[in-house]
Amino acid sequence: MRVGLDIGGTKTAAVVVGRDGSVLHRLTLSTGYGAEAVIRTAVLAVVELARLAGADTRAFESIGIGIPGIVDVATGRVSHAVNLGLRDVDLAGELAGRLGTAVHVENDVNAAAMGAFHQMGQSGLHSLAYLNLGTGLAAGLVLEGRLWRGSRGTAGEIGHICLDQDGPLCACGQRGCLELVASGSGVARQWPTDDPRPVEALFRAVVAGEDGALEVWSRLARSVAAAVRVLVLTIDVERIVIGGGMTSLGEPLLAAVRGVLDAGAADSAFLSSLSLSERVAMVSGESGVTAAMGAALCGWPLQVTQPG
Ligand SMILES: [Zn+2]
Repeated sequence: MRVGLDIGGTKTAAVVVGRDGSVLHRLTLSTGYGAEAVIRTAVLAVVELARLAGADTRAFESIGIGIPGIVDVATGRVSHAVNLGLRDVDLAGELAGRLGTAVHVENDVNAAAMGAFHQMGQSGLHSLAYLNLGTGLAAGLVLEGRLWRGSRGTAGEIGHICLDQDGPLCACGQRGCLELVASGSGVARQWPTDDPRPVEALFRAVVAGEDGALEVWSRLARSVAAAVRVLVLTIDVERIVIGGGMTSLGEPLLAAVRGVLDAGAADSAFLSSLSLSERVAMVSGESGVTAAMGAALCGWPLQVTQPG
């Protein structure tokens, strides 16, 4: 049995995964803020999973953690996890010391990509991009069953591809980044709301016919479609799975993105030949569980490469 945790800004999803990759037990806890609180939450989640599994925490073969921020996968150190209040923490060392089990730490989007690949792995899939539409926008890449992080861990950071040289300033210092329109924060910036799920508030406004809402919605759909094109034209993955907080809206978002891709294919024989619309899917179930499952798999990726 292996354990996977997805430590998010508000919730921590945790799963026990069996040898065949199936989820045996799962739970969700509120995540604390700051290093000690985050570590305490992770320990509590593993202890609780052990209780559900009727075992000691040391009976788990490994613990995988998916967490937002910059992760040094070799050492398990996490830095710049702003939403969690972590500046620089030896997360793997702290948890391994308290739980007596090896701990592997991975960036949350990469972990989710691994989980999505496994969820679709029965279809003989070789390559997949997980397009995370959360507060920001980034992609995780799985090629032949293994994560592709790039030479410096930057692979998939497509949220900072510049779409408009004269666009608004991004936190990264560039202008007009994709993330400024195709993300939860991007939607909230263009369609201010108190709703914690800005894309749902935007969609309600579109349905109600409110002034300007359709323009923001169309820009969102076009920008997510642009992210899909970038991923296919760069690495030609077989599947692009859209996940993250924005997918709580579900089908309307997927339909809007497919609509843009279909319209592009109708106007361009080249785009039509790429079958972009058919390659796009949405994560099944909760994103947090997918990411937690992926985190559990990250420690032993070779075992999930065989297509069934
Ligand atoms: Zn940027």
